[in-house]
Amino acid sequence: MTDPYMEEARRLDAADSLSGFRDRFVITDPGIAYLDGNSLGRLPRSTRDRLRALVDEWGADLIDGWRRWLPAGREAGDLVARIVGAEPGEVVLSDSTGVNLYKLAVAALDARPGRDVIVAAADDFPTDRYILDGIAAARGLKVRWLGSGLDDAVRPADVEAALDARVALVCLSHVAYRSGAVADLAGVTKAAHRHGALVLWDLCHSAGAVQVGLSAANADLAVGCTYKYLNGGPGAPAFLYVRRKLQPLLRQPIWGWFGQTDQFAMGPDYRPVPAIERFLVGTPPVLAGHAALEGARLTAEAGIEAIAAKARSLTGYALRLADAWLAPLGFRVASPRDGRRRGAHLTLHHPSAWPVCQAAKSAGVIPDYRAPQRLRLGFPPLYTRHIDVHSGLSRLRDVAATGRYRDFPDDPKGLT
Ligand SMILES: *Cc1c(COP(=O)(O)O)cnc(C)c1O
Repeated sequence: MTDPYMEEARRLDAADSLSGFRDRFVITDPGIAYLDGNSLGRLPRSTRDRLRALVDEWGADLIDGWRRWLPAGREAGDLVARIVGAEPGEVVLSDSTGVNLYKLAVAALDARPGRDVIVAAADDFPTDRYILDGIAAARGLKVRWLGSGLDDAVRPADVEAALDARVALVCLSHVAYRSGAVADLAGVTKAAHRHGALVLWDLCHSAGAVQVGLSAANADLAVGCTYKYLNGGPGAPAFLYVRRKLQPLLRQPIWGWFGQTDQFAMGPDYRPVPAIERFLVGTPPVLAGHAALEGARLTAEAGIEAIAAKARSLTGYALRLADAWLAPLGFRVASPRDGRRRGAHLTLHHPSAWPVCQAAKSAGVIPDYRAPQRLRLGFPPLYTRHIDVHSGLSRLRDVAATGRYRDFPDDPKGLT
């Protein structure tokens, strides 16, 4: 019996302009449907080669290597800028996403003295919420938490309603980590600016997955990680973006020597450089930074427009399979159905999502579990084929249809 969905996958893969990029990655598990590249992307072959060479350089060159190694953070930043629709000199690699969020949020609050409110999303990624809560507690500010429902992004009208002359900062994710729903970046930015507030975007699930268009939206600030869709590797440094005109007006709270003018003069006072490097703190992780650079290079080479189009194709195809195969088995699509409002992952609700997730892993498909009761299926466009979506979702169907997931215990942490 021919499977029309298999035919469709083959046809879509044959027409895929990015199909050549899959061979640029190390894939030791061709029989596995890896649908968790939005937690940790695959290893690019060029990264493996670059890191091997770099380790040898470290051994041979020692301190003489620094001058060659250090520019990677800015070089990668310029590539990431292209990927998220910003200008060269507006993005740099630095620290982790959470630390960058802290630095830019505090810098923004300091630039809006007299205002005492932060607007953020109640269902946003935990580290973002905790960090904003911590800043608010330390400075005696109030956070206005917006609800969105777990399966959607914050609505522009709700942001608008939360804005007034007390709001200093709006901080939101562009693509929601749980549902993949895309927020209205340009609309929210415009509304916040009308009220004199600054906006800080978390691009963790956007960079390398969808078009962001920071410059076009006149966006102020953004942060994001490189180990998800940018394939920078475990522990790779995050990036931060500050619109060029804002750079001289903002001062971040951690006054380190890597942000200092004339760093090696070792002078008495902190005078931050008049450039994006003023948001740096200390000695960068050179090996991980070069891994992030290679990942960004590959993404920039493919082009974000083609990547975003393929993401829509992969998630749209997955949605059709989920409707046909999984909905009758108790799954519910927990992501927007409109492809323009989705990132590169699709989330499915199932009452036994945790055991289904464990059973799926034993059946050769790697999804991700996200509380409450959700499977997150990521489709990083550079190495995911429609045929991988087919094999992943057909295995999920088998796990659910046979009831095999009932052999797996419920979530030991009680998260389900
Ligand atoms: C993955 C992710 C993070 C991770 O932050 P780290 O500082 O790298 O641990 C932050 N925010 C969002 C929205 C994420 O998806």
